[in-house]
Amino acid sequence: MEIIHTVEAKALVELQKRDTAIDALAARTAAIPAAIAALNAAFARKKASMSAAREALQTLQVKKKDSELKIAEAEEGIRKHQRELNLVKDNNAFKALLSEIENDKKGKDELETVVLFLLEEIDKASVQDKATQAEVKQMEAGLKSEIAALEVSSKEFSSKLESARAERAAAASAITPDLLEKYENIRTNRGGLAVAPAHEDPATPGKFSCGGCHMSLTPQKTLDIKKTDTLTFCQDCRCLMYLEKTLFS
Ligand SMILES: [Zn+2]
Repeated sequence: MEIIHTVEAKALVELQKRDTAIDALAARTAAIPAAIAALNAAFARKKASMSAAREALQTLQVKKKDSELKIAEAEEGIRKHQRELNLVKDNNAFKALLSEIENDKKGKDELETVVLFLLEEIDKASVQDKATQAEVKQMEAGLKSEIAALEVSSKEFSSKLESARAERAAAASAITPDLLEKYENIRTNRGGLAVAPAHEDPATPGKFSCGGCHMSLTPQKTLDIKKTDTLTFCQDCRCLMYLEKTLFS
């Protein structure tokens, strides 16, 4: 069978238009939960980066405090050894104490360099900490309204789908059952598209292609699609083609 000649050709094209719209709406509705989950996941990642920034800052602050304590210890050591310096009479003991004091001073200098470095790092970490906190706050406000909008859309789509499906059922019930069955079978096998318009190439008048698979029509198919009340099987994808200007003029 290469063509279907029927006065119901138009009704079948209209049914396909309804089904295509319903499929698109159903797909948009089905995508909403995943979109909400993706928003929540992105927010969770942002919150995790905020915690990491806070932890990095706190670690630096602990290191700085630790170094400052060691500096205080070194200073105490220097004072203690300087007091002892005044009491010793022995030359060797005096030299040993001087050496201890020198070591303490060296250690203290090194620790002060570390503290200066840590202060710079703390400044940077603090900026990062504040920035991520602000980002989380901003994202949280946006997140709530985005999710609310998606939920509103979901409800709207669902109610539109319900009425579209009811109208579709009424339209389908007016079509001869045999023809409807053919249509449904092709639709099932072709991912939802049973009936597709044939398109004329604007650059090459008289050259037509299938709206389902975009393959060029054979000369015979090109004649068939111009017949009134006719649906023509595509030789490549087996969908039913029609010519808009023939069918609806
Ligand atoms: Zn085709």
